[in-house]
Amino acid sequence: MDLAELGWDASFERSFRAAGAEGSVPARVSAESQGLFRVMGKAGEWLAAIAGRMRFEAAGRGDLPAVGDWVAVAPRPAEGRATIVRVLPRRTVLARKVAGRAVEAQVLAANLDLVFVVTSLNQELNPRRIERYLALAWESGAQPVVLLSKADLAATAADAEAVRESIDGLAPGVRVLAASAATGAGMDALREALGRGRTAVLVGSSGVGKSTLINALLGDGGLRVGTVREADDRGRHTTTARQLILLPGGGVVIDTPGMRELQLWEADSGLARAFEDLDEVARGCRFRDCRHRGEPGCAVERAIAEGSLPPERLESHRKLEAELRYLEARADPRAQREEKERVKRLCKEQKRGYRPG
Ligand code: GDP
Ligand code: ZN
Repeated sequence: MDLAELGWDASFERSFRAAGAEGSVPARVSAESQGLFRVMGKAGEWLAAIAGRMRFEAAGRGDLPAVGDWVAVAPRPAEGRATIVRVLPRRTVLARKVAGRAVEAQVLAANLDLVFVVTSLNQELNPRRIERYLALAWESGAQPVVLLSKADLAATAADAEAVRESIDGLAPGVRVLAASAATGAGMDALREALGRGRTAVLVGSSGVGKSTLINALLGDGGLRVGTVREADDRGRHTTTARQLILLPGGGVVIDTPGMRELQLWEADSGLARAFEDLDEVARGCRFRDCRHRGEPGCAVERAIAEGSLPPERLESHRKLEAELRYLEARADPRAQREEKERVKRLCKEQKRGYRPG
Protein backbone atom coordinates (compact mmCIF):
# COMPACT_ATOMS: atom_id res chain seq x y z
CA MET A 1 0.00 0.00 0.00
CA ASP A 2 1.37 3.34 -1.10
CA LEU A 3 1.01 5.67 1.87
CA ALA A 4 0.55 8.70 -0.38
CA GLU A 5 -2.64 7.06 -1.70
CA LEU A 6 -3.86 7.13 1.87
CA GLY A 7 -3.06 10.83 2.27
CA TRP A 8 0.45 10.63 3.72
CA ASP A 9 2.65 13.64 2.92
CA ALA A 10 5.81 15.47 3.94
CA SER A 11 4.18 17.24 6.82
CA PHE A 12 2.87 14.00 8.39
CA GLU A 13 6.33 12.54 7.78
CA ARG A 14 7.84 15.35 9.87
CA SER A 15 5.32 14.77 12.67
CA PHE A 16 6.15 11.09 12.60
CA ARG A 17 9.89 11.76 12.90
CA ALA A 18 9.26 14.28 15.67
CA ALA A 19 7.22 11.71 17.60
CA GLY A 20 10.43 9.72 17.89
CA ALA A 21 8.67 6.43 18.47
CA GLU A 22 11.53 4.11 17.72
CA GLY A 23 10.85 0.85 15.97
CA SER A 24 7.42 2.04 14.89
CA VAL A 25 5.99 2.60 11.42
CA PRO A 26 3.29 4.99 10.23
CA ALA A 27 -0.21 3.73 9.55
CA ARG A 28 -3.68 5.16 9.20
CA VAL A 29 -6.63 4.10 11.34
CA SER A 30 -9.18 2.51 9.01
CA ALA A 31 -11.74 1.33 11.54
CA GLU A 32 -12.56 1.49 15.20
CA SER A 33 -14.89 -0.62 17.26
CA GLN A 34 -15.01 -0.92 21.04
CA GLY A 35 -11.44 0.15 21.53
CA LEU A 36 -10.12 -2.17 18.86
CA PHE A 37 -8.68 -0.73 15.66
CA ARG A 38 -7.74 -1.58 12.14
CA VAL A 39 -4.79 0.27 10.72
CA MET A 40 -3.39 0.42 7.20
CA GLY A 41 0.29 0.78 6.61
CA LYS A 42 2.79 0.18 3.86
CA ALA A 43 2.80 -3.54 4.58
CA GLY A 44 -0.96 -3.95 4.68
CA GLU A 45 -3.75 -3.92 7.19
CA TRP A 46 -3.50 -4.99 10.82
CA LEU A 47 -5.73 -5.35 13.77
CA ALA A 48 -4.37 -3.02 16.43
CA ALA A 49 -4.82 -2.15 20.08
CA ILE A 50 -3.61 0.91 21.95
CA ALA A 51 -0.50 0.69 24.08
CA GLY A 52 -1.42 0.59 27.75
CA ARG A 53 0.66 3.64 28.51
CA MET A 54 -1.17 5.65 25.88
CA ARG A 55 -4.55 4.75 27.30
CA PHE A 56 -3.28 5.72 30.73
CA GLU A 57 -1.98 9.09 29.57
CA ALA A 58 -5.01 10.08 27.50
CA ALA A 59 -6.80 13.01 29.12
CA GLY A 60 -10.08 12.20 27.38
CA ARG A 61 -11.64 10.29 24.54
CA GLY A 62 -10.40 12.96 22.15
CA ASP A 63 -6.80 11.88 22.77
CA LEU A 64 -7.41 8.32 21.66
CA PRO A 65 -7.17 7.28 18.01
CA ALA A 66 -10.09 7.89 15.70
CA VAL A 67 -10.76 6.78 12.15
CA GLY A 68 -8.59 8.83 9.80
CA ASP A 69 -5.83 9.35 12.35
CA TRP A 70 -2.24 8.79 11.39
CA VAL A 71 -0.59 6.74 14.09
CA ALA A 72 2.78 5.27 14.91
CA VAL A 73 2.42 1.53 15.35
CA ALA A 74 4.72 -1.21 16.53
CA PRO A 75 3.99 -4.16 14.26
CA ARG A 76 3.90 -7.75 15.46
CA PRO A 77 4.08 -9.36 12.03
CA ALA A 78 4.00 -12.92 13.26
CA GLU A 79 0.55 -12.33 14.72
CA GLY A 80 -0.63 -9.96 12.00
CA ARG A 81 -1.22 -7.45 14.79
CA ALA A 82 0.12 -4.08 15.79
CA THR A 83 0.21 -1.84 18.83
CA ILE A 84 -0.63 1.84 18.46
CA VAL A 85 1.97 3.83 20.37
CA ARG A 86 1.25 7.41 19.26
CA VAL A 87 -1.40 9.47 17.52
CA LEU A 88 0.22 12.03 15.24
CA PRO A 89 -1.08 15.60 15.54
CA ARG A 90 -4.33 15.99 13.66
CA ARG A 91 -4.60 18.40 10.79
CA THR A 92 -8.38 18.61 10.99
CA VAL A 93 -10.97 17.05 13.29
CA LEU A 94 -14.64 16.52 12.69
CA ALA A 95 -16.15 16.33 16.16
CA ARG A 96 -19.49 16.32 17.82
CA LYS A 97 -20.24 17.18 21.42
CA VAL A 98 -21.25 14.09 23.32
CA ALA A 99 -24.83 14.48 24.48
CA GLY A 100 -25.07 15.29 28.15
CA ARG A 101 -21.36 15.84 28.59
CA ALA A 102 -20.58 19.44 27.93
CA VAL A 103 -16.83 19.27 27.48
CA GLU A 104 -16.24 15.93 25.92
CA ALA A 105 -16.22 15.85 22.16
CA GLN A 106 -16.61 12.69 20.12
CA VAL A 107 -14.10 12.65 17.30
CA LEU A 108 -16.00 11.39 14.26
CA ALA A 109 -13.10 11.52 11.83
CA ALA A 110 -9.60 12.95 11.68
CA ASN A 111 -7.46 14.48 8.96
CA LEU A 112 -10.18 15.32 6.49
CA ASP A 113 -9.53 17.53 3.51
CA LEU A 114 -13.14 17.87 2.40
CA VAL A 115 -16.56 17.72 3.99
CA PHE A 116 -19.33 17.18 1.44
CA VAL A 117 -22.59 18.57 2.74
CA VAL A 118 -25.12 16.54 0.79
CA THR A 119 -28.62 17.77 0.07
CA SER A 120 -30.99 16.16 -2.39
CA LEU A 121 -32.40 18.01 -5.37
CA ASN A 122 -35.72 16.22 -5.10
CA GLN A 123 -36.43 17.65 -1.67
CA GLU A 124 -37.10 21.14 -0.57
CA LEU A 125 -33.94 22.85 0.48
CA ASN A 126 -33.62 23.29 4.23
CA PRO A 127 -31.30 26.28 4.64
CA ARG A 128 -31.01 26.02 8.45
CA ARG A 129 -29.92 22.41 8.19
CA ILE A 130 -27.32 23.23 5.56
CA GLU A 131 -26.03 26.05 7.72
CA ARG A 132 -25.58 23.70 10.66
CA TYR A 133 -23.66 21.19 8.58
CA LEU A 134 -21.55 23.93 7.07
CA ALA A 135 -20.75 25.26 10.53
CA LEU A 136 -19.69 21.78 11.60
CA ALA A 137 -17.52 21.49 8.51
CA TRP A 138 -15.83 24.86 9.01
CA GLU A 139 -15.19 24.00 12.63
CA SER A 140 -13.40 20.84 11.56
CA GLY A 141 -10.84 22.81 9.61
CA ALA A 142 -11.62 20.95 6.39
CA GLN A 143 -12.98 22.56 3.24
CA PRO A 144 -16.77 22.27 2.88
CA VAL A 145 -18.32 21.52 -0.50
CA VAL A 146 -22.08 21.43 -1.04
CA LEU A 147 -23.13 18.41 -3.05
CA LEU A 148 -26.59 18.46 -4.65
CA SER A 149 -27.52 14.80 -5.01
CA LYS A 150 -30.14 13.05 -7.15
CA ALA A 151 -29.67 15.63 -9.90
CA ASP A 152 -31.75 13.39 -12.17
CA LEU A 153 -34.78 14.17 -10.00
CA ALA A 154 -34.61 17.94 -10.24
CA ALA A 155 -37.84 18.92 -11.97
CA THR A 156 -36.06 21.28 -14.37
CA ALA A 157 -32.58 22.63 -14.93
CA ALA A 158 -33.90 26.00 -13.80
CA ASP A 159 -34.92 24.46 -10.45
CA ALA A 160 -31.44 23.09 -9.92
CA GLU A 161 -30.02 26.49 -10.77
CA ALA A 162 -32.32 28.17 -8.23
CA VAL A 163 -31.10 25.83 -5.49
CA ARG A 164 -27.53 26.55 -6.46
CA GLU A 165 -28.19 30.26 -6.14
CA SER A 166 -29.77 30.00 -2.72
CA ILE A 167 -26.75 28.03 -1.55
CA ASP A 168 -24.45 30.71 -2.90
CA GLY A 169 -26.43 33.07 -0.68
CA LEU A 170 -26.01 30.85 2.40
CA ALA A 171 -22.40 30.02 1.88
CA PRO A 172 -20.64 32.50 -0.36
CA GLY A 173 -17.49 31.07 -1.86
CA VAL A 174 -18.32 27.45 -1.07
CA ARG A 175 -18.09 25.21 -4.09
CA VAL A 176 -21.36 23.61 -5.18
CA LEU A 177 -21.43 20.37 -7.17
CA ALA A 178 -24.45 18.55 -8.55
CA ALA A 179 -24.40 14.82 -9.24
CA SER A 180 -26.63 11.86 -9.87
CA ALA A 181 -25.53 8.43 -8.76
CA ALA A 182 -28.40 7.05 -10.83
CA THR A 183 -27.37 8.47 -14.21
CA GLY A 184 -23.71 9.16 -13.50
CA ALA A 185 -24.09 12.83 -14.39
CA GLY A 186 -21.65 15.00 -12.47
CA MET A 187 -19.84 11.99 -11.00
CA ASP A 188 -16.60 12.78 -12.82
CA ALA A 189 -16.44 16.25 -11.26
CA LEU A 190 -17.01 14.64 -7.87
CA ARG A 191 -14.21 12.12 -8.48
CA GLU A 192 -11.93 14.93 -9.52
CA ALA A 193 -12.73 16.95 -6.39
CA LEU A 194 -11.84 13.93 -4.27
CA GLY A 195 -8.56 13.30 -6.01
CA ARG A 196 -5.62 11.13 -5.07
CA GLY A 197 -4.62 11.19 -1.43
CA ARG A 198 -7.48 13.43 -0.37
CA THR A 199 -9.82 12.41 2.40
CA ALA A 200 -13.50 13.28 2.53
CA VAL A 201 -16.68 12.59 4.44
CA LEU A 202 -20.25 12.91 3.28
CA VAL A 203 -22.66 14.40 5.80
CA GLY A 204 -26.35 15.13 5.43
CA SER A 205 -29.81 13.90 6.27
CA SER A 206 -30.79 10.29 6.03
CA GLY A 207 -32.04 9.43 2.55
CA VAL A 208 -30.22 12.12 0.59
CA GLY A 209 -28.19 9.42 -1.16
CA LYS A 210 -24.84 9.34 0.65
CA SER A 211 -24.39 5.56 0.63
CA THR A 212 -25.48 5.36 -2.98
CA LEU A 213 -22.92 8.00 -3.91
CA ILE A 214 -20.16 6.17 -2.06
CA ASN A 215 -21.06 2.92 -3.80
CA ALA A 216 -21.10 4.68 -7.17
CA LEU A 217 -17.67 6.16 -6.45
CA LEU A 218 -16.42 2.71 -5.59
CA GLY A 219 -17.71 1.23 -8.82
CA ASP A 220 -16.94 -2.42 -9.48
CA GLY A 221 -13.27 -2.25 -8.66
CA GLY A 222 -13.66 -0.71 -5.25
CA LEU A 223 -12.98 -2.31 -1.94
CA ARG A 224 -15.95 -2.03 0.30
CA VAL A 225 -16.63 -2.80 3.90
CA GLY A 226 -16.02 -6.47 4.36
CA THR A 227 -17.16 -6.79 7.95
CA VAL A 228 -14.68 -8.90 9.82
CA ARG A 229 -15.08 -10.72 13.09
CA GLU A 230 -11.86 -11.16 14.94
CA ALA A 231 -10.66 -12.01 18.38
CA ASP A 232 -8.70 -9.37 20.23
CA ASP A 233 -5.85 -9.93 22.67
CA ARG A 234 -8.19 -11.18 25.35
CA GLY A 235 -9.95 -13.54 23.01
CA ARG A 236 -13.12 -11.48 22.84
CA HIS A 237 -14.78 -11.50 19.47
CA THR A 238 -15.42 -8.12 18.00
CA THR A 239 -16.67 -6.87 14.71
CA THR A 240 -14.87 -4.14 12.86
CA ALA A 241 -15.87 -2.93 9.43
CA ARG A 242 -13.57 -0.95 7.20
CA GLN A 243 -14.68 2.59 7.69
CA LEU A 244 -11.98 4.17 5.63
CA ILE A 245 -12.80 3.50 2.03
CA LEU A 246 -10.26 3.67 -0.77
CA LEU A 247 -11.64 4.80 -4.09
CA PRO A 248 -10.31 3.26 -7.28
CA GLY A 249 -9.33 6.64 -8.77
CA GLY A 250 -7.52 7.73 -5.62
CA GLY A 251 -9.17 9.49 -2.76
CA VAL A 252 -10.40 8.23 0.58
CA VAL A 253 -13.91 8.39 2.01
CA ILE A 254 -14.58 7.94 5.71
CA ASP A 255 -17.91 6.39 6.61
CA THR A 256 -18.24 5.56 10.31
CA PRO A 257 -21.31 4.80 12.41
CA GLY A 258 -20.70 8.21 13.98
CA MET A 259 -21.43 9.80 10.62
CA ARG A 260 -24.85 8.22 10.80
CA GLU A 261 -25.32 9.48 14.34
CA LEU A 262 -24.88 12.99 13.00
CA GLN A 263 -28.33 12.61 11.52
CA LEU A 264 -29.74 12.04 14.98
CA TRP A 265 -27.88 15.09 16.16
CA GLU A 266 -29.46 17.05 13.35
CA ALA A 267 -32.94 15.83 14.22
CA ASP A 268 -32.36 16.41 17.93
CA SER A 269 -31.25 19.96 17.52
CA GLY A 270 -34.09 20.71 15.13
CA LEU A 271 -36.49 19.41 17.70
CA ALA A 272 -34.87 21.44 20.44
CA ARG A 273 -35.17 24.60 18.38
CA ALA A 274 -38.82 24.03 17.64
CA PHE A 275 -39.53 23.56 21.34
CA GLU A 276 -37.33 26.16 22.93
CA ASP A 277 -40.11 27.19 25.34
CA LEU A 278 -40.46 23.65 26.63
CA ASP A 279 -36.72 23.26 26.81
CA GLU A 280 -36.38 26.43 28.80
CA VAL A 281 -38.82 25.17 31.43
CA ALA A 282 -37.27 21.68 31.42
CA ARG A 283 -33.94 23.14 32.48
CA GLY A 284 -35.61 23.62 35.87
CA CYS A 285 -36.34 19.89 36.27
CA ARG A 286 -34.37 18.22 39.02
CA PHE A 287 -33.14 15.47 36.72
CA ARG A 288 -31.37 16.27 33.49
CA ASP A 289 -32.98 13.38 31.71
CA CYS A 290 -36.40 14.05 33.24
CA ARG A 291 -39.15 12.68 31.01
CA HIS A 292 -41.84 14.77 32.70
CA ARG A 293 -43.86 11.74 33.64
CA GLY A 294 -44.23 12.07 37.36
CA GLU A 295 -40.56 12.39 38.28
CA PRO A 296 -39.94 14.33 41.50
CA GLY A 297 -38.99 17.98 41.00
CA CYS A 298 -40.37 18.13 37.45
CA ALA A 299 -40.59 21.78 36.44
CA VAL A 300 -42.54 21.01 33.27
CA GLU A 301 -45.40 19.35 35.10
CA ARG A 302 -45.39 22.18 37.62
CA ALA A 303 -45.60 24.76 34.81
CA ILE A 304 -48.51 22.89 33.23
CA ALA A 305 -50.31 22.71 36.59
CA GLU A 306 -49.75 26.43 37.11
CA GLY A 307 -51.05 27.16 33.61
CA SER A 308 -47.86 28.81 32.36
CA LEU A 309 -47.15 26.05 29.80
CA PRO A 310 -49.93 24.70 27.59
CA PRO A 311 -50.15 20.90 27.99
CA GLU A 312 -50.41 20.54 24.19
CA ARG A 313 -46.79 21.63 23.86
CA LEU A 314 -45.61 18.64 25.86
CA GLU A 315 -48.01 16.39 23.98
CA SER A 316 -46.84 17.42 20.51
CA HIS A 317 -43.22 17.29 21.58
CA ARG A 318 -43.78 13.69 22.64
CA LYS A 319 -45.48 12.84 19.37
CA LEU A 320 -42.71 14.35 17.29
CA GLU A 321 -40.05 12.68 19.35
CA ALA A 322 -41.73 9.31 18.92
CA GLU A 323 -42.05 9.94 15.22
CA LEU A 324 -38.41 10.83 14.89
CA ARG A 325 -37.38 7.71 16.72
CA TYR A 326 -39.60 5.65 14.48
CA LEU A 327 -38.18 7.21 11.33
CA GLU A 328 -34.66 6.72 12.52
CA ALA A 329 -35.27 3.14 13.48
CA ARG A 330 -36.83 2.44 10.11
CA ALA A 331 -34.11 4.16 8.15
CA ASP A 332 -31.23 2.38 9.78
CA PRO A 333 -31.01 -1.27 10.79
CA ARG A 334 -28.35 -0.41 13.34
CA ALA A 335 -30.65 2.14 14.97
CA GLN A 336 -33.34 -0.50 14.93
CA ARG A 337 -31.16 -2.86 16.90
CA GLU A 338 -30.18 -0.14 19.33
CA GLU A 339 -33.79 0.86 19.81
CA LYS A 340 -34.64 -2.73 20.71
CA GLU A 341 -31.77 -2.80 23.20
CA ARG A 342 -32.93 0.47 24.69
CA VAL A 343 -36.47 -0.77 25.16
CA LYS A 344 -35.19 -3.99 26.72
CA ARG A 345 -33.04 -2.00 29.11
CA LEU A 346 -35.91 0.28 30.04
CA CYS A 347 -38.12 -2.71 30.77
CA LYS A 348 -35.45 -4.20 33.01
CA GLU A 349 -35.06 -0.93 34.86
CA GLN A 350 -38.80 -0.71 35.33
CA LYS A 351 -38.93 -4.22 36.77
CA ARG A 352 -36.05 -3.50 39.07
CA GLY A 353 -37.69 -0.26 40.18
CA TYR A 354 -40.92 -1.97 41.13
CA ARG A 355 -39.41 -4.94 42.90
CA PRO A 356 -40.62 -4.73 46.50
CA GLY A 357 -38.01 -4.28 49.20
P1 GDP B 1 -28.35 7.91 2.64
O1 GDP B 1 -29.27 7.66 3.78
O2 GDP B 1 -27.99 9.36 2.54
O3 GDP B 1 -27.15 7.02 2.62
O4 GDP B 1 -29.20 7.62 1.30
P2 GDP B 1 -29.20 6.34 0.35
O5 GDP B 1 -27.94 6.26 -0.40
O6 GDP B 1 -29.58 5.15 1.16
O7 GDP B 1 -30.35 6.70 -0.70
C1 GDP B 1 -31.69 6.89 -0.32
C2 GDP B 1 -32.60 6.59 -1.50
O8 GDP B 1 -32.35 7.49 -2.58
C3 GDP B 1 -32.41 5.20 -2.07
O9 GDP B 1 -33.68 4.66 -2.34
C4 GDP B 1 -31.63 5.42 -3.35
O10 GDP B 1 -31.91 4.44 -4.31
C5 GDP B 1 -32.12 6.78 -3.79
N1 GDP B 1 -31.08 7.49 -4.58
C6 GDP B 1 -29.80 7.67 -4.21
N2 GDP B 1 -29.13 8.37 -5.15
C7 GDP B 1 -29.98 8.62 -6.14
C8 GDP B 1 -29.90 9.31 -7.42
O11 GDP B 1 -28.86 9.83 -7.83
N3 GDP B 1 -31.04 9.39 -8.15
C9 GDP B 1 -32.20 8.85 -7.74
N4 GDP B 1 -33.26 8.97 -8.52
N5 GDP B 1 -32.32 8.19 -6.56
C10 GDP B 1 -31.25 8.07 -5.78
ZN1 ZN C 1 -39.49 17.22 34.05
